[in-house]
Amino acid sequence: MFEQDTVKTSAGELVMTFVGHGTLMFEFDGKVIHVDPVSREADYGEMPKADLILVTHGHGDHLDAEAVEQVRTDGTEIVLPASCTDRVPGARTMNPGQTATVAGLPVEAVPAYNVVHERSPGVPFHPKGEGVGYVITFGDVKVYVAGDTESIPEMEQLEDIDIAFLPMNLPYTMTPEMVAEAARAFHPAALYPYHYGDTDASRLADLLAGEDIEVRVRSLR
Ligand code: ZN
Ligand code: ZN
Repeated sequence: MFEQDTVKTSAGELVMTFVGHGTLMFEFDGKVIHVDPVSREADYGEMPKADLILVTHGHGDHLDAEAVEQVRTDGTEIVLPASCTDRVPGARTMNPGQTATVAGLPVEAVPAYNVVHERSPGVPFHPKGEGVGYVITFGDVKVYVAGDTESIPEMEQLEDIDIAFLPMNLPYTMTPEMVAEAARAFHPAALYPYHYGDTDASRLADLLAGEDIEVRVRSLR
């Protein structure tokens, strides 16, 4: 029903399910990890129950308290930034720069914000400090899910990213040119544009031709 890719890691297979837009599901080592589960992309009453839920920020295409309730169990760990704390009971807060082991997985919260694109003068769509991206380590494979962000200086500090998901829609996140610039800052082995709306995702491969970055376009409008 959804497109999937399977990746080999030192600790078994990682199955990545492309639910849609900014919403992903990972299955690894018998665990289910939902990223930004929202009902507009899937019926979470029918989705596998979560061991871990990662929420990047409070916008409706990322945080849907009802979907979270549908997919959580008593044992589910939920991680979100402080800006969303009062939206989901029993969640753990992680702010940019924090690392933790959750549901047995090393997770780092990293900054996600706009530099250029604003809702109104002086008000970015994603103010610095409110949202996060996540770097999740599966065995020896590091996956970076950027959340809603533009190309930001902190990306240069990302190391050894194997797989990256970078958002590519206007006016909220990045143009293909900005995604290419962001990717050059930390050189993931594989790059999935996601959250790309009506953007022509095929442009990204042209922009990154000659770089050692494999662009993979999946159904993540
Ligand atoms: Zn957003
Ligand atoms: Zn969004």
